[in-house]
Amino acid sequence: MTDKLSGSIQYLKNVGPKRVKAFQSIGLETIEDLLFYLPTKYLDRSTILNSSAARRYISAGSDSEFTLIGTVERTDVISYSRKPILKLTLRDSAGTFDCVWFQGLRFIKDLFKSGESYAVSGKPVITKYGHLQFAHPDFDKIEEDERREFMNTGRIIPFYKLANELKKTNIGNISLRKIIYSAVLQYAKELEETLPDEVLTKNKLLNIVDAIQNLHFPKSTDLLHEALRRIKYEELFYIEMMIAVRKTVMHKKVSEFRYKVNSDSILKFISNLNFKLTSEQKKVINEISADLKSGKVMFRLLQGDVGSGKTIVALIIMLAAVENGIQAALMAPTEVLASQHYHNIKNYLKNFNVDIRLLTGGTSRSERKQLEENLQTNDRMILIGTHALFEDVVQFSKLGLVVIDEQHRFGVSQRYKLIDKGVNPHVLVMTATPIPRTLTMTTYGDLDISTINELPDERLPVKTALRSERKLNDIYKFIIERLNNDEQAFLIYPLVEDSEKLQLKSAMEEFNSLKRTVFKDYKVGLLHGKMPWTEKESVMNRFADGHFNILISTTVIEVGIDVPNTTVILINDAHRFGLSQLHQLRGRVGRSNKQSYCILVTKEEFIKYSLPKNLSVDLLSPAEREKYKTHIRLQSMINHSNGFELSEIDLKLRGPGDMFGTKQSGLPDLKYSNIIEDVEILYQAKEDAFNLVKNDFSLKEEKNFLLRKILMNKYLSDLTLSLTP
Ligand code: ADP
Ligand code: MG
Repeated sequence: MTDKLSGSIQYLKNVGPKRVKAFQSIGLETIEDLLFYLPTKYLDRSTILNSSAARRYISAGSDSEFTLIGTVERTDVISYSRKPILKLTLRDSAGTFDCVWFQGLRFIKDLFKSGESYAVSGKPVITKYGHLQFAHPDFDKIEEDERREFMNTGRIIPFYKLANELKKTNIGNISLRKIIYSAVLQYAKELEETLPDEVLTKNKLLNIVDAIQNLHFPKSTDLLHEALRRIKYEELFYIEMMIAVRKTVMHKKVSEFRYKVNSDSILKFISNLNFKLTSEQKKVINEISADLKSGKVMFRLLQGDVGSGKTIVALIIMLAAVENGIQAALMAPTEVLASQHYHNIKNYLKNFNVDIRLLTGGTSRSERKQLEENLQTNDRMILIGTHALFEDVVQFSKLGLVVIDEQHRFGVSQRYKLIDKGVNPHVLVMTATPIPRTLTMTTYGDLDISTINELPDERLPVKTALRSERKLNDIYKFIIERLNNDEQAFLIYPLVEDSEKLQLKSAMEEFNSLKRTVFKDYKVGLLHGKMPWTEKESVMNRFADGHFNILISTTVIEVGIDVPNTTVILINDAHRFGLSQLHQLRGRVGRSNKQSYCILVTKEEFIKYSLPKNLSVDLLSPAEREKYKTHIRLQSMINHSNGFELSEIDLKLRGPGDMFGTKQSGLPDLKYSNIIEDVEILYQAKEDAFNLVKNDFSLKEEKNFLLRKILMNKYLSDLTLSLTP
């Protein structure tokens, strides 16, 4: 940064001490800060209609957004009923149009003065009196000379976010535009390029000066798009550089726990299974084994849809660890799941000489102490547990393999905590919530990825139905038929106890009533998170061994639970659950060769409602997405059985912010780009960054000095690992 750019904004025209303070309060101190304070939207003449054209479009059935520019003729506060309405009449070259407000009159009543010009955007209608009318539109004030220039030259007008602090010092859209304009005019040319030449050339990107100039005051729509592409690319490129560096640092770590022997006992174990491994399971076992034999530290994500058989893969890898004199640990997000793994694995390995232990929050101190002693002396050990495994006292020095099940339940930064423990165990994280492509390039970009792409052959797709609560009696009859066929059922409720406010059903109340009425001839168990641990464990075990026909439960069974004889899952108040949660719950059935059913029970309104014909989320506007998101979630469960497809839909419904944050990924927040909409740019940036790091890992070549400097100065605080090897 040159001195000029690091100078205070007080050197700009029209910026006095008060305004300097106001700018400072929103984080803008230097001229450079201001140059990077980019518009949030643009007014482009090509998107503007006059009022008669707007009428024609509406009459022809269009319901898109329009922008009209007009001069204020009058404002009226009308009181037809008790609630007053504000009506604004504007005139443009072709006639008049109105804007009405039903709310917030106080704030906008005195805003509009006659003779002023405004750009008004929204979806207007034609009223029964023939008026062209916007309700609660977006509006931006436009100065008369600006308007003339705009209409004559087709200039594109930028709009900036106007913080209240700025407004208090009389900075409006127009004055802010002027201040920034003078900054751009004088100083933009001082900006130093922040992307390497080869990257600029290869991707035909604008240089930084042209980009900044065109972001503030675009010379044309094309140049605006190019400028946006450049700024997005840059942001994503540096994120990918960080990921590439992190990943490479990981890959360079030499492992103390190299697998050397290919043991016969593994082959014996596999041939003794009562099923054949799928080819996808074999594929990922090979990928994982290659890591473990390589002498490098493994850091790998194993993804596969619910029921694809990840546990057995993990078990084979852990058994191989033991055969190689390496201790292994398996971490699960809930006690229920940890305990299930413990019992299953004990059973699988009963003929092998392996010490299998369980450690959870409920483990007593004396047991824990004993365990730690054994960990010091016994190499043939697999330790299973919850996150208690990694807290405080547990001695790590001999653990060479850590498998984390259902890793989406853990914060991603925990990955690095593990590694920070001093020793470098191999890490395999598993998830049944398939990860959308954009996230495998960002949040999960530092992991190698193995994917199980098929379910075992014998599986039948789960039949999913969406039903109204009113149909519950019929549904119970159906469940009874399944029970009489010696199958089992889960009944899921969103709450543990009744809550009047929410009007939702609770597991406890329904348990008390159903076991006495509809299901009185059957054995019904109850499971929820508030039960003491020993009780949870015993209920789960009794359901798994078939003692209970029905398990009434909250979402504590959501992840991982495997009772293949269960063929029905009834999810009550299904509208209360997230999409990946519903898919996880559905994954509790369909785990054998029997036909399974998932019945989503919800309120009438979510069933009857007719949705836009084509349900593809991509075709909906953000407003529609928001409005219909519950309907879309439920419908998607009917239309899709594939977890990958559902996770893409989920990401689109939730938006990237929810999944790509600092907390999730340890990566900086995105200011200019959006990993969903800008996926093509992301893909390119990733490829370029990884190639660069591959060719010059420590960025020592001269042409990469700039990159190295920027990474160190700007991003190093975010890099958990340093650049120097
Ligand atoms: P997830 O991938 O959801 O963790 P699990 O590992 O719990 O799935 O496996 C689901 C069920 O499928 C288990 O009952 C497991 O024993 C069984 N299973 C695993 N692999 C196979 C296979 N190749 N063929 C048939 N059944 C399998
Ligand atoms: Mg699992």
